[in-house]
Amino acid sequence: MQIADKKVVSIHYTLTNDAGEVLDSSRDANPLVYLHGAKNIIPGLETALIGKLAGDELAVVVEPSDAYGEYNEQMTQVVPREMFAGVDEIEAGMEFQAETSQGVEVIRVAAVDGDEVTIDGNHPLAGKRLHFAVSIHEVREANEEELTHGHVHGESCNHDH
Ligand code: ZN
Repeated sequence: MQIADKKVVSIHYTLTNDAGEVLDSSRDANPLVYLHGAKNIIPGLETALIGKLAGDELAVVVEPSDAYGEYNEQMTQVVPREMFAGVDEIEAGMEFQAETSQGVEVIRVAAVDGDEVTIDGNHPLAGKRLHFAVSIHEVREANEEELTHGHVHGESCNHDH
């Protein structure tokens, strides 16, 4: 069965950056299972998988515009350390959830300089070219409920909607 819209696709992947460092991988855990055509995964990867079959392996390079977007300098901000009341130690790389007008967003600490903390609301992979090594594990038809919900239902799925 070929990968197309309304198929449930199960893949293993290794994600590396331009320098070849591994950023993420499914290989030591369960495969990633997603509903094709429902924007469950980044557009550049979804497009590259169209027409592939179980057992296929492929290498995909995805530009930022087809992944997590360009890096936006305006999403960084310098805030006073008092903003982090109750947190003893602030270090670059820490992540906090913040209420914003867009809903709850993850804010990363980019740098700490004395009482000034630079926070960054960009996705950690924004502005990065992504290299995926993908092996396709399984392709099956989605069921009606999955199509209605726009995502895959599996053993670990216990939402009620
Ligand atoms: Zn659902």
